Amino acid sequence: MSHADPISSRPFDTDVLIVGAGPAGLTLATALAVRGVDIMVIDRQSEGANTSRAAVVHARTLEALEPLNVAARLVARGLQAPRFTIRDRDRVLVPIDFEHLPTRYPYTLMISQAVTENILLDRFRELGGRVHRPGALVDVCQDDTGATATLDDGRQPRARYVVGADGMHSTVRERSGIGFTGGSYGESFVLADVRLTGGVPRDEVILYFSPLGLVVVAPLPNGAHRIVATVDDAPEHPDAAYVQALLDARGPQSEAAVVHDVLWGSRFRVHHKLADAYRSGRVLLAGDAAHVHSPAGGQGMNVGILDAVALAEALGRALAGDEAGLEAYGRARRPVARQVIELADRLTRMATARPGLRAVRNLLLRTLARLPMFRRQLAWRLSGLVYR
Ligand SMILES: Cc1cc2nc3c(=O)[nH]c(=O)nc-3n(C[C@H](O)[C@H](O)[C@H](O)COP(=O)(O)OP(=O)(O)OC[C@H]3O[C@@H](n4cnc5c(N)ncnc54)[C@H](O)[C@@H]3O)c2cc1C
Repeated sequence: MSHADPISSRPFDTDVLIVGAGPAGLTLATALAVRGVDIMVIDRQSEGANTSRAAVVHARTLEALEPLNVAARLVARGLQAPRFTIRDRDRVLVPIDFEHLPTRYPYTLMISQAVTENILLDRFRELGGRVHRPGALVDVCQDDTGATATLDDGRQPRARYVVGADGMHSTVRERSGIGFTGGSYGESFVLADVRLTGGVPRDEVILYFSPLGLVVVAPLPNGAHRIVATVDDAPEHPDAAYVQALLDARGPQSEAAVVHDVLWGSRFRVHHKLADAYRSGRVLLAGDAAHVHSPAGGQGMNVGILDAVALAEALGRALAGDEAGLEAYGRARRPVARQVIELADRLTRMATARPGLRAVRNLLLRTLARLPMFRRQLAWRLSGLVYR
């Protein structure tokens, strides 16, 4: 990042420039708009993505979105799954009920990321906001009073603060010299939204442990199911036969789940990386720009949305003259991302235990699962309520 003195005397175009209109950027934009903060949002894509991707919204995320007038809209469009189980084929190792959690949202809400983003965008527009598309940031520099972006069309909007909500390959992070430390998993993830019958209930998210890799089967609001699995070499477009073979090898046994068709499928490689800092002066990071991890546990997008809610509060105070919250933001949110990376790692390692260790793992988990305290702790962690 360069320091450009002549620019520092220019008037501000906006208080906060948000780079990226994914779930993190849109949440931040909405939360700042609710506070009446002057913001500018840019995104390099000419329109928002319409694919399913992250399909899980947890209780804590819904609580945090309540003041933005977004939670009820999500609930109206989503499907409530009050139960989560870890299984080894037909055997339930860990049953977790969210029903008794002390929240207004005692369930996992299943809803496609495209719908979540549309609901956030609608709310942002109601508040008078708009996303400038396509507009890609190519550089950012800062001085004592503000930060100036350079866009691909040569414009140079100047803001008091710039937020990188620009995803895993964040240009804001890179141009600000913030490291992104971690690695990649050897295996890749295959993802498919399918129509299926039999084998699995419609009110439950199931994580199957298998020596071949983990597979998640979760109901979606449109009558479909989301399948996510770790595989060595994922096909670009998984077909019904491929997903059927996955479920036959790792999923329910006594009553098979029969896959009829694939509505949407994709593959992706998963990294586990954490930004070395969430702040560099007047530049801040949120969402995948700050952390990426395995989708095991369904936390990715949720952590990013909660980053954004916390950052909006900190930026609101900073604009009123108290910058202490900006440093506290990273101190509070970075350990959460680290814990999510560790939990996802643990789940992946446990899921793929070698055959010799599998019986021991199952016995241990079933013993632990008899303890109400263990089940409660897991429910609090997965729902995000532990981070209240
Ligand atoms: C195929 C796929 C499947 C996934 N499945 C799951 C899942 O099952 N569960 C789960 O938890 N997560 C999943 N994820 C991850 C999840 O989608 C992300 O965690 C989530 O989208 C992160 O939100 P974000 O707002 O931080 O970043 P993003 O959604 O990545 O949004 C970043 C935005 O920034 C914009 N942008 C990037 N660079 C620039 C720039 N230089 N200038 C301007 N704009 C820029 C991009 O166009 C984009 O709109 C999946 C991701 C993919 C790709």
